[in-house]
Amino acid sequence: MQCCAICGARQDLRLYEVGDGDNITRRWWCPDCLFRSRRGGVAATLCPVWIERAALRQLPTKPVETRPASVTMIRTGRRLGDSRAV
Ligand SMILES: [Zn+2]
Repeated sequence: MQCCAICGARQDLRLYEVGDGDNITRRWWCPDCLFRSRRGGVAATLCPVWIERAALRQLPTKPVETRPASVTMIRTGRRLGDSRAV
């Protein structure tokens, strides 16, 4: 499961494209770190939901049969699917 690239939080994460020009990286950030980074002058753009989902799908490294992990993935998918006004 992913965590915030800055503080390690695991809740309310969104995937952002950070930087500009040829130097864009994708990072999972929590709202607090996004706020602080933007205030610090960092350019960060929210990734489309389908990119978030694709990123989530690449992450599992454990067997699919591991039940707790798959339950977590489903719950996370729903949370990220919520269309929140950002
Ligand atoms: Zn954070």
